[in-house]
Amino acid sequence: MRTYQLYINNEFVEATDKKTFTATNPYNQETIATFARAGAQDAVRAINAAREAFDNGPWPGMSREERSNYIKAVSDKINENSKLLVELEVADSGSTIRKAEEDVYLSARNMANFAKLGLHDLSETLEGVSKPGFSKNLLLREPVGVVGAIIPWNFPLKMAIWKLGPALAAGNAVVLKPSQETSVTAMELAKLIHAIGFPKGVVNIITGYGADAGLELTTNPKVDKIAFTGSTVVGQQIMRAAATTLKKVTLECGGKSANIVLDDADMTMAIDGAMYAIFYHQGQCCEAGTRLFLPEKIADEFMHALVEKTKRLTIGDPMNMATDLGPLVSKKQQETVLGYIHKGTQEGATLAVGGGVPISSECTRGFFVEPTVFDHVNNSSTIAQEEIFGPVLSVIRYKRVEDAIQMANDSIYGLAGGVWSKDADKAMDVARQLRAGTVWINEWHLLSERAPFGGYKQSGIGREFGIEGLKEYTEAKHVHIDEVGVREKKTWYDMVVPKG
Ligand code: NAP
Ligand code: MG
Repeated sequence: MRTYQLYINNEFVEATDKKTFTATNPYNQETIATFARAGAQDAVRAINAAREAFDNGPWPGMSREERSNYIKAVSDKINENSKLLVELEVADSGSTIRKAEEDVYLSARNMANFAKLGLHDLSETLEGVSKPGFSKNLLLREPVGVVGAIIPWNFPLKMAIWKLGPALAAGNAVVLKPSQETSVTAMELAKLIHAIGFPKGVVNIITGYGADAGLELTTNPKVDKIAFTGSTVVGQQIMRAAATTLKKVTLECGGKSANIVLDDADMTMAIDGAMYAIFYHQGQCCEAGTRLFLPEKIADEFMHALVEKTKRLTIGDPMNMATDLGPLVSKKQQETVLGYIHKGTQEGATLAVGGGVPISSECTRGFFVEPTVFDHVNNSSTIAQEEIFGPVLSVIRYKRVEDAIQMANDSIYGLAGGVWSKDADKAMDVARQLRAGTVWINEWHLLSERAPFGGYKQSGIGREFGIEGLKEYTEAKHVHIDEVGVREKKTWYDMVVPKG
């Protein structure tokens, strides 16, 4: 069994009150690790360390190149330790090994990209104006200060990188709190970061619960910004808590993304794509394609193939390379998802496949849910409106594309969407009309490090990735430099200046 302490001010330390909690493998319910459980006072220790590092340490004043080298070193360390990180990610989160391998690879690649992004000089010289007097105007981009980063359990290592990368690249100091469900790889990352030897207090990683350690981050006046990924409900709580000290907030929250198949789509690609959109990581993805819109003309044929293929998915040991779906992250999540399936049936949708817990011997101790598809779902029903965060697809049949678009946008969420068609113009026309931060055409889940990712409506505030994402970790400062140079030529409006 592994034991982890808090990482504060470049030291590994116990929680002040010596409290701990454990991590469970959701495949076999074995206890795999013990963590120090940070209370509010430990969050304060971490915040103070980050504050000191930002206010008096070398980090924010370092050259972009120097900071970039530190960040690149994190990427290299992840690559060097990828085998262990993959194994631990599978054991802690229930991710299939195929997904975990991709996650660790992308964590390293994303971090290397944040290192490159940090080399950009974001400052600008603005176009001059001659009135009310000649001046030179500079726009500087400075780090926000101390960033509190709070992340969920679905992509544990990758989410840690998505917060640390841009925060550090912009010159901030950070306190990161991973989800108590999946803290193992974040603490392994702490070890790698420690080995690199960042300046004291620049990176602090504390394991603990949202209600105490997390809450302190969102209310403490020494924290300048909260970068959060998680549910919309907690996002709302965080925004309220941060309001007292008017912290900057970026929120990456939930989704109920609409996947629209047009009647000229390549059927095989659209069917497999729809399955990938919903069943990847057991549906525990904020950008999952959870609502599938099918034209009535092709719906029966499409559904038949979708159901047959869904029955053939392999569910079981996530360490097995052949496994398509592993367990959900926790018993609580399993119960939530089964509750939604029950609700779907109650509300009159047709259960086309799945709907229960798999019975194979491989699945007896894990928190599994069968890949499930509901047909004839009403867009206003619970399973079409609420985020389920499990392998449950709601199929909604439509007559006219306009109706599909209208229903797609009839949601409190706007994280992502997708269109399947052989006609690029038609697909683009639909893409423009979807109120969502990312729209895929004949694709799903793929993100670009250069393209902003984030949500419209209640899916969030702000963007991650690219220059857009980096700017979220900066303050804009305007410096006005006088170029009039002569007292007599100053146009100081109504100011009464005593003569003589
Ligand atoms: P969650 O319950 O919202 O928790 C997210 C994080 O917030 C956890 O670290 C949690 O701590 C912490 N937290 C909870 N209450 C808090 C509070 N009052 N103050 C400060 N922190 C608090 O989400 P989850 O269940 O872990 O993850 C699933 C959700 O994340 C889904 O809704 C999904 O859509 C969303 N998500 C969105 C994106 C995106 O990019 N848009 C990506 C991934 C996931 P604990 O350790 O106590 O849980
Ligand atoms: Mg776990």
